Amino acid sequence: MLNADAKSRELKPSYAPDLYTRQEVSEFNWIFKNRKEGVYILAVNKNSSGTYVKGFVESESRKGMYHYVVAFIGQRREIVGGGFCECESRHYYGKPCKHVLSLRNMYEKHKEELDRLAAPYPELRR
Ligand SMILES: [Zn+2]
Repeated sequence: MLNADAKSRELKPSYAPDLYTRQEVSEFNWIFKNRKEGVYILAVNKNSSGTYVKGFVESESRKGMYHYVVAFIGQRREIVGGGFCECESRHYYGKPCKHVLSLRNMYEKHKEELDRLAAPYPELRR
């Protein structure tokens, strides 16, 4: 009996993603959202190496729930360092996950408008 309990506990997923509701997300000081409200962008910062984007991306399997996502997008549209997201995919399979890619694609799609809203990001010392 004890063994069976231990086994069932073992099989339960141990990682719980941090999710936000649409209500919570809409209360942040976001600067841009797409028409379908699948992505909310909180900040865009630029330096000579690329663009730092922070925002919320809607979960595909849990509609109305959002992941907090961060990506640094290089000059060739690459995601430097793989980005940050707290979803299961990012946790178990590495980076970058589809939410990081969605955030990058949303930025690229609305680049002109978002670049106008961008603030400077410090140049990294080498
Ligand atoms: Zn993710």
